[in-house]
Amino acid sequence: MQTTSWLRAEHLPHIWCSGCGHGTVLGAVVRAMEKAGIDRDRTVVVSGIGCSSRAVGYLEMDTLHTTHGRALAFATGIKLARPDLKVIVLAGDGDLAAIGGNHLIHAARRNLGITTVCFNNGIYGMTSGQLSPLTPGGYRTTTSPHGHLERDFDLCRLVQAAGATYVARSTAYHVQQTILLIARALAHDGFSFIEVFSQCPTYFGRRNGMADPVAMLEWLRDSTVQAGQAARMAPEELRGRAIIGELYHAEDVPEYSRSYRALVDRLAGEGSRDAD
Ligand code: SF4
Ligand code: MG
Repeated sequence: MQTTSWLRAEHLPHIWCSGCGHGTVLGAVVRAMEKAGIDRDRTVVVSGIGCSSRAVGYLEMDTLHTTHGRALAFATGIKLARPDLKVIVLAGDGDLAAIGGNHLIHAARRNLGITTVCFNNGIYGMTSGQLSPLTPGGYRTTTSPHGHLERDFDLCRLVQAAGATYVARSTAYHVQQTILLIARALAHDGFSFIEVFSQCPTYFGRRNGMADPVAMLEWLRDSTVQAGQAARMAPEELRGRAIIGELYHAEDVPEYSRSYRALVDRLAGEGSRDAD
């Protein structure tokens, strides 16, 4: 199958800036769907609002471009109504970690069978580069021009603690690894979450001495470390570097939408017996 057959040709060229990482991440999502053997006629892809959320507009399949922060709320409704469908959420770091943070926590807590890909560029790109909850410490943004002071926020640890049963992280530099991890997440039965660092040279890069997209890709390469390697490193060696790879994987946890459907079916059966 041609990867381009997954794209709506009439909507191309895309609106992303030259050198933006989001096209790379979308390409990885498409290749992962192919690799995982996803049936696109039984799949819905949902996004929120932001540069990354424009991704669904380019997919030749059933997609839903929703409101800011609410992609997982819409996706939850779809999955509960139709547990037989594969439901995928593509959303940005501002969308998932700020206004949509509670939806993320509770989708993970329920172990709802949704695969969520977080396009993490560390800022609000579409609205000109404001600080997001995932801006790395010390970096400059439109609203933190002197470098921001807040501590780093590890969204993968949050979703794992909340109850997600597949958690991974990669970058737009590590393309093959990103495809593999998303494919594994798609094959997982339960809530799966993949954070992918994606470069925004236009707002993040320009303010942090990396206006050249290649410099941003090198930064993604050099500021991350593979999970296997990290296990052999001291905490001081890991400081300032994010761990990538498969971070958590648990089987044997009930997937929520099927439990919910089983309860509905049981109550319907009891109701019809009562009526007899
Ligand atoms: Fe990509 Fe940044 Fe441009 Fe948005 S503003 S399209 S995230 S490079
Ligand atoms: Mg963002």
